[in-house]
Amino acid sequence: MTDQTNDDFVLLEDETLRDGLQLESRIFPLEEKLDLFRQLAGAGLARIQVGSFVNPKRVPQMADSEELIRALRHEAENGPLLSALILNDKGLERALSCGIGHVSMSVSVSNSHSLKNAGKPAAEALSGMAGLIRQATEAGLSVRAGLQCTFGCVYEGAIAEAAVLNAADVFASAGAGEINLADTTGMANPLDIERLVRKVRKHLPALQISLHLHDNRGLGLANMFAGYQAGVRIFDVCTGGLGGCPFVRGAAGNVPTEDAAQMFSSLGVKTGIDLRKICATVGSLEGLLGRKLPGRMKTVLAAEK
Ligand SMILES: [Zn+2]
Repeated sequence: MTDQTNDDFVLLEDETLRDGLQLESRIFPLEEKLDLFRQLAGAGLARIQVGSFVNPKRVPQMADSEELIRALRHEAENGPLLSALILNDKGLERALSCGIGHVSMSVSVSNSHSLKNAGKPAAEALSGMAGLIRQATEAGLSVRAGLQCTFGCVYEGAIAEAAVLNAADVFASAGAGEINLADTTGMANPLDIERLVRKVRKHLPALQISLHLHDNRGLGLANMFAGYQAGVRIFDVCTGGLGGCPFVRGAAGNVPTEDAAQMFSSLGVKTGIDLRKICATVGSLEGLLGRKLPGRMKTVLAAEK
């Protein structure tokens, strides 16, 4: 596991195949997903979230997650750590059936977002998910537990810090080894990030913390740096900055993988990512989608040629 006190390295978890693709109307066939995975692995990504076990009627892009994971398990033995998202008991069953070893399980700390997204109040979703996390860890899975809307909610505004600390507590005691604080709707600012991360770290010092930042308001990289300064060493990213949230209108993607890699490299912090290779992957993705993605570094590198 990444050492939270190590100043020289950050782990970037690429979300392209899950958070990135889930909103696209174009369905990416398995072969294209496999090819994108190989490119991401070849560019040095050490952890890749490859899919989610959610209702295929609601998110058809993720319907082949089991098939993809089965195909990848053969080739990814010495490669990146594979991860996938689970939101309910059916999802856990599906994850166990395809043999993935690491999962993300998440709930919203905003009551209104939880009601809209998961169909139940936040407190009920939290206790239900804690039970599932226990089941998952007992079955041998390594679990990262996510808290959506940690830094604010479009429906509710600010979220009480006590709710975040309580949810982190509940998930840590259920067996989660990492807590992922998610700015699901891109509402955080750097001071919010720094303050809340320091509080959670103080409250649960043994726990690994990661950040999932959306770039809706253009503060993604600034928030990432604030998280780094507050001690976070794991960040979610998405190649080209693809993505959003299917349940939040107008949401932008995660911080672009290539821009995050460049920022950390310029700060003397290693990510293991080859900038030219990841920018080539942005090019492949833009080719498949037929549009330009918001990340900056591909254009910067092209101009330097
Ligand atoms: Zn997200």
